[in-house]
Amino acid sequence: MTRPSARCGSPSPTRRYLPTVSGDLASQRGSFQIRRRRNSFPPASSGGSGSFFLLRSCDKFRPSLELDDLGHGLFTQGLLDAMDARDGRLAACDTSFAAAVRDRMEELQRRHNVAEPQRPSLGEVSGACFALFTDGFLNAGRAAPSAYATPAAALVKCPVCGRWNEKINTFTCRECGRDNICLRHQDEATYLCADCVAKARVEAQLKAAEERARRDREEAERKAEESKRKAAREVEERNRPAGTQSIIRVGEIEVALRWCPPGTFMMGSSKSEEGRDDVETQHQVTLTKGFWMGETEVTQGLWKKIMTQGLWEKIMGKTPSSFKSGDNYPVESVSWEDCQDFLRKLNAKAPVAGFKWALPTEAQWEYACRAGTTGPYGGTVRLDDMGWFASNSGGTTHPVASKMANAWGLHDMHGNVWEWCQDWYGTYSGGAQTDPSGPSTGSGRVIRGGSWCDDARDCRPADRGWCCPVDRDDNLGFRVALLPVQ
Ligand SMILES: [Zn+2]
Ligand SMILES: [Zn+2]
Repeated sequence: MTRPSARCGSPSPTRRYLPTVSGDLASQRGSFQIRRRRNSFPPASSGGSGSFFLLRSCDKFRPSLELDDLGHGLFTQGLLDAMDARDGRLAACDTSFAAAVRDRMEELQRRHNVAEPQRPSLGEVSGACFALFTDGFLNAGRAAPSAYATPAAALVKCPVCGRWNEKINTFTCRECGRDNICLRHQDEATYLCADCVAKARVEAQLKAAEERARRDREEAERKAEESKRKAAREVEERNRPAGTQSIIRVGEIEVALRWCPPGTFMMGSSKSEEGRDDVETQHQVTLTKGFWMGETEVTQGLWKKIMTQGLWEKIMGKTPSSFKSGDNYPVESVSWEDCQDFLRKLNAKAPVAGFKWALPTEAQWEYACRAGTTGPYGGTVRLDDMGWFASNSGGTTHPVASKMANAWGLHDMHGNVWEWCQDWYGTYSGGAQTDPSGPSTGSGRVIRGGSWCDDARDCRPADRGWCCPVDRDDNLGFRVALLPVQ
């Protein structure tokens, strides 16, 4: 069924601008825009010459029909069908297009039995006029700004590439402040323009390079400073007199050390030495690095200080020593393994840069014991002046440092308690040695120096003994050394 919807030219406010002058209906979803035009339309291909053609749904005072089945007007349907025939696109509205619309409308009227025919009319408009365009039409027409004479004022020019865009398709870069930039130049992550992003990237690279250079420079300075310090230390060590004292504080306890400079000495005993054993084959030993040797044997006081919280406190009380005589007595009844435990703790509690606390090697021990002398008892022939042994001890240990020190200020290198060394016990090779550290394996660890219950011959610098690493005895203690790490 059909009914009149409006009459063109009637006083009712139903006159409409139709989106049909020219355009792409497929993209009509956007808002329509009215733009003021001058006589520059349509393009030459439309057949017009500077004229503007207007396709109306009907003549003045003729009815315009709605078709209920379609849900909209007869003219609209004719228009859509005619455009479909051109794949939905229309370059320009011209006479042939108007004829196609008219043919289609006639066919629809026949099919719907419309009594009063409605015919579209095509008229030429001259002079200034308004035209209605869709957003889609304006955006689709690349050549629109010039060919269709959309006013330049309505478009903005991209400062990056010079392209003209509608304002809505541009952005302002908050970094450089430039306006009207094409959206395609916008960085997805930062929303800045590509130029600013590139600039930031270059700046970041420069900064990273500067940072690298600064780190390299600091590293080089650090290395130079370190080698300078090392050289200065070497000079200092060369010039430091043997026996120089150094005090290391461990809590309230002071550990006194004596400097043993690098040097060469004869290790072992000559065949003529009284009381010697065959295992003391004399040979030359060079120690290339100086080291610090404990001035005394480790005391019961120091042991307790370092080993609190240790196994000893739980199992054996404050001190493992058999002679519970006092803090100033040498600790004894400690195994080689116990000593390693003590040294681990001492290194943790009293670290010294460039050095480690350790047992001396057998060669270091004998070198320190001789202190530059070659005789049997540190340069004297009177052991009684220098150490506690069977003849003078009264069957017990004695406070450390109560006898005369050797030439380098070291006490009790002879007697009082035997002292553990780091090395496995083995036979001397006989040849000259540099920095020897004993066999790589063995069953006994070297002990040196003799003790309160030994004869004088066992207290000679060259005398050698050994015990299993787990052995404990009331005449066996140790002395710490502070050895250079490199
Ligand atoms: Zn651009
Ligand atoms: Zn920018």
